Amino acid sequence: TESLKDSDPELFGSIEKELSRQQNQIELIASENIVSKAVLEAMGSVLTNKYAEGYPGKRYYGGCEYVDIAEELAIERAKKLFGCAYANVQPHSGAQANQSVMLALLKPGDTILGMSLSAGGHLTHGAAPNLSGKWFNAVQYGVRQDDGRIDYDEVERLAVEHKPKLILAGGSAYPRHIDFKRFREIADKVGAWFQVDMAHFAGLVAGGVHPNPLEHAHVVTSTTHKTLRCARGGIVLTDDEWIAKKINGAVFPGLQGGPLMHIIAGKAAGFGEALRPEFRAYSQRVVDNAKALASRLMEHGLDTVTGGTDTHLALVDLRPKGITGKAAEESLDRAGITCNKNGVPFDPEKPTVTSGIRLGAPAATTRGFGPEEFRQVADLIARVLDGLRDNPQDNSAVEQAVKADVQELCKRFPIYSGGAQTA
Ligand code: PLP
Repeated sequence: TESLKDSDPELFGSIEKELSRQQNQIELIASENIVSKAVLEAMGSVLTNKYAEGYPGKRYYGGCEYVDIAEELAIERAKKLFGCAYANVQPHSGAQANQSVMLALLKPGDTILGMSLSAGGHLTHGAAPNLSGKWFNAVQYGVRQDDGRIDYDEVERLAVEHKPKLILAGGSAYPRHIDFKRFREIADKVGAWFQVDMAHFAGLVAGGVHPNPLEHAHVVTSTTHKTLRCARGGIVLTDDEWIAKKINGAVFPGLQGGPLMHIIAGKAAGFGEALRPEFRAYSQRVVDNAKALASRLMEHGLDTVTGGTDTHLALVDLRPKGITGKAAEESLDRAGITCNKNGVPFDPEKPTVTSGIRLGAPAATTRGFGPEEFRQVADLIARVLDGLRDNPQDNSAVEQAVKADVQELCKRFPIYSGGAQTA
């Protein structure tokens, strides 16, 4: 019954410091967000104590009648949110959601076709060091050099040549809408399953400001903690009963044991929030803010891959300023702006250095920033980057000055004012 603060001050201290970091910096990592107190409360609940292997109504343990309610709520809300017939809300992560599709529909050695990491795809779509690249014959498509967009003709050519069993669309750093219809046509032409991993833009789909991949894909996977702003984890969605059954078996007992019932409750809480009209407004604002950020950065002389964004993120090419992603990430971090270095298509630098940074609007939009604040953020970023260009050895004076402006902005838009317990 002792609180964490009293029983384990060392651990509590790390949480308090992380809280203060989140409160006092501007979060631009495109895959992050700031969940509500309700979601935190569900995640921090006694549901963590419960073993519930199986699915609602068909468990391998007794005493599941109440966690069944939580999981049913998560399933029903996910189905409503994305307009589909079946949802599995148990994957512990986005990576495991993707693995469940491979376990359900493929055999080791089968050919898959996914977007390469260097073009903005995700590790789990067939990258060499990932299980998807080791256990399957992974063929990878990229983007066009001239405009940074997916080359659908190349996708079709590779599909016809390699006859994949599964074609994957979706990525971690692709700022444009994907032509799901064209992908499905290609999949149908070669008899492949078509999967969309909407991890990054799921919240925009839920908010109705992005095309819904379920209109074209056989199966859709996602994380729940990015634009969707729920507890951290994964989901798998489909309209096909046979696929749904295979997915259920693949998630449990195929890949996982006991589901994380407290996390499933946190997903249900977040899905409930996403069903409200406010979430539609939030999603629209995320897109408006990302566009405002990208266009102001271009006014400051930076390039963005594809010349802008349709979504929540922009991939900034720093080469016009002659600086690397690594140097930019570190200097921005010291100035109180958090982002990640990211390769740009055909990047001449190695992945640990890169020529770009990936910037996303979801988290700062949650704390209340609008287009005006995002233009201001772009101005602050440009100050840091210009300082770095002019003074690569020591940008500390600019970093300090920018940090003061960052603090002002953060104070105007506070988060979690109840403290580390967020009560
Ligand atoms: N799929 C995509 C497109 C992602 O961007 C990510 C995470 O960044 C994942 C899957 C993996 O999700 P997780 O980190 O929950 O395993």
